[in-house]
Amino acid sequence: MALMTGAQYIESLKKLNTKVYLFGEEVKDWVDHPMIRPSINCLAMTFELAHDPEYADLMTAKSNLTGKTVNRFTHLHQSSGDLVKKVKMQRLLGQKTASCFQRCVGMDAFNAVYSTTFEIDKKYGTEYHERFKKYVEYVQENDLVVDGAMTDPKGDRGAAPSQQTDPDMFLRIVEKRPDGIVVRGAKCHQTGSINSHEHLIMPTIAMTEADKEYAVSFAIQSDVPGIFMVYGRQSCDTRKLEENADIDLGNKTFGGQEALVVFDDVFIPNDRIFMCEEYDFAGMLVERFAGYHRQSYGGCKVGVGDVIIGAAALAADYNGAHKASHIKDKLIEMTHLNETLYCCGIACSAEGYPTQAGNYQIDLLLANVCKQNVTRFPYEIVRLAEDIAGGLMVTMPSQKDFESDLKVGQTGKTIGEWCNKLYAAAPGVSTENRMRILRFLENICLGSSAVGYRTESLHGAGSPQAQRIMIARQGNINQKKELAKVIAGIKE
Ligand code: SF4
Ligand code: FE
Repeated sequence: MALMTGAQYIESLKKLNTKVYLFGEEVKDWVDHPMIRPSINCLAMTFELAHDPEYADLMTAKSNLTGKTVNRFTHLHQSSGDLVKKVKMQRLLGQKTASCFQRCVGMDAFNAVYSTTFEIDKKYGTEYHERFKKYVEYVQENDLVVDGAMTDPKGDRGAAPSQQTDPDMFLRIVEKRPDGIVVRGAKCHQTGSINSHEHLIMPTIAMTEADKEYAVSFAIQSDVPGIFMVYGRQSCDTRKLEENADIDLGNKTFGGQEALVVFDDVFIPNDRIFMCEEYDFAGMLVERFAGYHRQSYGGCKVGVGDVIIGAAALAADYNGAHKASHIKDKLIEMTHLNETLYCCGIACSAEGYPTQAGNYQIDLLLANVCKQNVTRFPYEIVRLAEDIAGGLMVTMPSQKDFESDLKVGQTGKTIGEWCNKLYAAAPGVSTENRMRILRFLENICLGSSAVGYRTESLHGAGSPQAQRIMIARQGNINQKKELAKVIAGIKE
């Protein structure tokens, strides 16, 4: 099929029998559920933009496996130029959706599993890499969305997988059969899991021999028996269920999505297994996937940042405050922070290098520095946006009030007339437009989109401490000591 449209993607989801639960109940028509649909629309943009000639160079690539044009989200990076284009594509999608568009986790997983399986085979004589190549061809040919799933519930953070009181805290192999394996466990806060056709599972931490049944990687269709998902709720999410609340939503079309994905004894056939007890490669797979996803944040969060900076500037215009020098300075600071993140995303890509399997890996130190900055700068960008917007962002009445024709008071005006009159600001600016931009900022700073821009910036692709560990490992302090010794004339 190659290169589905957004509409074809949405139709394809309706054919799946994915089990989704929300508010304690099964949701049968989850594709059209108002709380879930914005995340599907958002992911659909990864298909739509691939058909736009203006973006073809960023959104598509030539497959190294088949020579065909594929969506870049299913591509195995063949050069540092590919890595740079990946980041630019993510910035573009952040700009078009102001949300997490979810498809990157699969792309990052493909590239990590591709190179890791090659090295497992080299050591153990297994055939995971050839299997995985066939799998990627299948994904590319059908333009599928694959949820790259890594994070286990983890239980007691002080205990290894095999030391947990409850063994289900890490996903594991519970049975080996001639034709495959049976797995049990879960993956938590999985971005884009409900609206994915497939799941590509990876271990979540480096492991020892005692943990070997937890060292497992495989791909499986999202709706096979035993898999179910519990939708994660977001701040202000039930506004999406209200009528006449489009403006109150701030971003009514797009949003992100996370869910708990449970594997309650799921059979995985042999041709879908890419790691089975090779515990000594769990750390490599984790490190590579995390590295790619830390690079990703130097693109997606920057694109969303662009929209936030634009919204803050509009809020200043609509408030009549745009000429104040401190407002201009705050917009400069926001731009500086946002572009610094982009520099990191581009730098770790430009410094990419080929793996043994031939696809390109980002520079790990720079990718971890990128993500470490992402744990901080979006918070400052949002603080400045809130500063510029003013308190009305969180205190103004609802859309229904602005539209109400209920007469109140003694002079015969309606609630709508009072609200529109009293919340007017700069001359010539409609109160509705002012409300729209403030609600957008509320949504991205505090509402349902804050999941993707704020807390995900902190914890997505690994919490800050995970990057500090990698920076410590990659930082090469001893080499820096030698540099200082030479300059200072020290001979030991
Ligand atoms: Fe893609 Fe960013 Fe969402 Fe991760 S957080 S899936 S990189 S948009
Ligand atoms: Fe993420």
